[in-house]
Amino acid sequence: MDFYKLNSLYIEVTHACNQHCRHCYLDGGIHRKNEEMSTGQIKSIFAEFKNQGGKYVVFTGGEPLMRSDMFELLDCLDSLELRFTFASNSLGMNRERLEKLASYKGLAEYFTSILGENPEKHKAICGKDSFDSVINAVEFFDKKDIPSFVQVTLANDYIDDMETILEKLSAFKNCSVKITPIASLGCKSAEEKEADKNLIVPPERFEYFHKKLDELCKKYPNCVGDDNIYEHDKIVNMINEYKENPLYSLCWHSVCVRPNGDLSFSYNMNNPYVFGKAFESLKIPMDEKFFGYINLLKKADEFILEESEKHAIEYDTAVDNYISVLI
Ligand code: SF4
Repeated sequence: MDFYKLNSLYIEVTHACNQHCRHCYLDGGIHRKNEEMSTGQIKSIFAEFKNQGGKYVVFTGGEPLMRSDMFELLDCLDSLELRFTFASNSLGMNRERLEKLASYKGLAEYFTSILGENPEKHKAICGKDSFDSVINAVEFFDKKDIPSFVQVTLANDYIDDMETILEKLSAFKNCSVKITPIASLGCKSAEEKEADKNLIVPPERFEYFHKKLDELCKKYPNCVGDDNIYEHDKIVNMINEYKENPLYSLCWHSVCVRPNGDLSFSYNMNNPYVFGKAFESLKIPMDEKFFGYINLLKKADEFILEESEKHAIEYDTAVDNYISVLI
């Protein structure tokens, strides 16, 4: 029996978070009580990943700082000589923690997020005064020549903020930016979705969003890249890249681990297809279930291709939505 070979591992060490963003796709927040893996379980996942020839870990949450063993886990990654991205909303990143993070030889990138052009607008989405902490963290790593990646997620009323945000972030030589519109409200309750529906950028505004972003990509070519909205041509090109590969879109060899240990090929929460508990084994047999999943991906792509002829799509979420309908 062949097993799926991992190159990279995306691990959500907790869904607890010190912020409570109105658009959070995994319903993170301080109120959240979720099942978490133990320190030992996570360390054994890292060791098995390394043994399989794994190279790269994305260490994320929720907010990883909510775990008291966070640095112990990062020590483990470093001792295994694994490179990693560390993702944080930056709210809890004081000087001491920043220095400690920067001391890891495996730290390849600091990932954080901005939700509006100034502290007040940012706070209106995430509920906390974290804007200045984000800028401080990016500045700190910039001075150390450690790359940072800022995910800018914009509500419908904030689309025009992208210009001011890029102006600020382009001052840092080691900072890359991805700008995405809020296109759904993830795992929120029906009441929360109703209350916050004005945050969503409707598909008819995608064209305006794209045009604006396009201009800024030309102005700041070293700083900003693509967004998460896919038009028909882009989807066709992407599928053409992997359609002849027997592993189809899984050919990039990456998996995601949820806080409770669920092993999945999806980074979104509403994909119900789980391949076991990561702390028991990272070995995913390439059996009937595995190829059944690939067939579902192909079917989801067919639906999406058809849809994308009518309007632009937020591709990853759309795949998971179709899969949850198909099974
Ligand atoms: S910082 Fe991230 S995990 Fe926390 S509430 Fe916001 S979107 Fe969710």
